Amino acid sequence: MNDEVITKKPHYIKNFDCPICQRIMVDPVIATDGFSYDRLCIEQRFMSGIITSPKTNAALKSKNLIHNHQLRATIEPYLSTNDLERRQQHQLALNNLEKSK
Ligand SMILES: [Zn+2]
Repeated sequence: MNDEVITKKPHYIKNFDCPICQRIMVDPVIATDGFSYDRLCIEQRFMSGIITSPKTNAALKSKNLIHNHQLRATIEPYLSTNDLERRQQHQLALNNLEKSK
């Protein structure tokens, strides 16, 4: 009977956050470091020539990204707004990160 209270707590959100911009992931992918990132954010890093793990700072073996279907399916019910809107939030957060460099 406590289950209802637990599921309403927002603590789960943390695991769904993109480690790069701290927004809930829209299109989670697994990089070669074994961590999940939002595709938009990790690809943007690759495009700016940063081929290191945002988590560990170690060089990544390759730019391969594997779709994290399981995580995406888990996040799906918590996405209250549509994908496009989420994507724009990541883009905005990225722009702000760029500016603060
Ligand atoms: Zn992101």
